[in-house]
Amino acid sequence: MPRIECIAIGSELLTSGRLDTNSVWLAERLGDMGLTLRRKTAVGDDREDMRRLFREALDRSDIILCTGGLGPTFDDFTKEVWAEVVGAPLREDPQAREEMLAYYAARNRVPSTSNFQQVLIPEGAERVRNPAGTAPGVYWEDPKGFPGRRVILFPGVPREMKLMWEQQVAPRLQSLAGAPMRTLRMVFGSVPESALGERTQALREQFGQVEWTILAGIQHVELVGRTPDPAVLEAALAAFRREMGPDLAHVGAEGGIENAVVDLLNRREQTLAVAESMPGGNLAARLCAIPGVSSVFLGGATVYSALAKARLAGLELPFIMANGTVSEPVTIALAKAIRGRLETHWGLAVTGNAGPTEDKDGPAPIGTCLAAVAGPEGTECRTFRLPGGRAELQVRGASWALDMLRRKLL
Ligand code: ATP
Ligand code: MG
Repeated sequence: MPRIECIAIGSELLTSGRLDTNSVWLAERLGDMGLTLRRKTAVGDDREDMRRLFREALDRSDIILCTGGLGPTFDDFTKEVWAEVVGAPLREDPQAREEMLAYYAARNRVPSTSNFQQVLIPEGAERVRNPAGTAPGVYWEDPKGFPGRRVILFPGVPREMKLMWEQQVAPRLQSLAGAPMRTLRMVFGSVPESALGERTQALREQFGQVEWTILAGIQHVELVGRTPDPAVLEAALAAFRREMGPDLAHVGAEGGIENAVVDLLNRREQTLAVAESMPGGNLAARLCAIPGVSSVFLGGATVYSALAKARLAGLELPFIMANGTVSEPVTIALAKAIRGRLETHWGLAVTGNAGPTEDKDGPAPIGTCLAAVAGPEGTECRTFRLPGGRAELQVRGASWALDMLRRKLL
């Protein structure tokens, strides 16, 4: 397997000004060919920084894909620096010159002197025609002194880069391609990242030919496996199902715990309503994002204030005041109330303290989250202590509540 890296060139990529999307796109195309991007870097328009990085890249990678800095402006010198690092002079490419002149003639314009800089190609390299702009790219196999290496330079403009990859560069790399990668994505509910790492270690080692990644998000943690062999992934999935049992919530390229809940409700032909305080609508938003969810999710209420808990869910204000909003009795009453009002099989309620101010009067420090599930066989309430800032706690609280319901539905 060739070691492949990507270098995104441009000072704007180091600020919030522009995100490097070129390398993301290239990584996906490589994956389609069964090739893996091993590393990516962004570097500003600085000759010394570029020199150092190009030398390192030649040292560690077989294929180096660069984007940006091929244009005619003062800050475009990718080719110049590469030529210097390899020790190859830049030569004018006659065909590139002709094409550029034709490009300008067709538009009734004359190129400026700086445009001629674009038709220079390092000696020993091939020009990659640019079908959508004036800056040609470079395909450089076995640069002098670096046998076995390939250096490929694209313009930064995403549209030009993509066309050049598809038409001219991907075909040249085809002989290196492997079987396309298959992906197994497993989403876990109510399992912290560290615990997932420990509990899956033995299995990840057992399926050592699979490339495993643990991704800890706010909504859930997931384990992603990649390998070209679908049979290996199938065997791995069966093993993970046995090992992780009900902690494995959802399997698929997209989706999370809410999808698992909706699947289970559909299978049981049962309905759900929610009363959410702390998540502030996140619960309903995530459920409603699933197409066709109206068959099982009837709706709910964002009962953020005590008044909303009273007016929308029918709780008595003195009862709320006596218990405190972040309390078991109030959370349970909300779950039962919303289930009764919408006449659903299940009612899910979430209260808690997402901060940033500490709840001085109540026993609910920031991160406290209470979830109550009211169902055909009664009501249960659980208290979680969750990490994170306000926005994270609102999402995480919704996830833990959904996961509590999911486990009841299993
Ligand atoms: P040009 O001939 O347009 O000058 P260039 O090869 O010099 O092309 P840049 O000047 O570096 O490329 O970038 C051209 C445009 O493409 C800019 O709008 C830039 O922000 C965008 N761009 C550059 N690199 C990337 C990248 N890695 N991801 C997404 N956009 C990029
Ligand atoms: Mg430029």
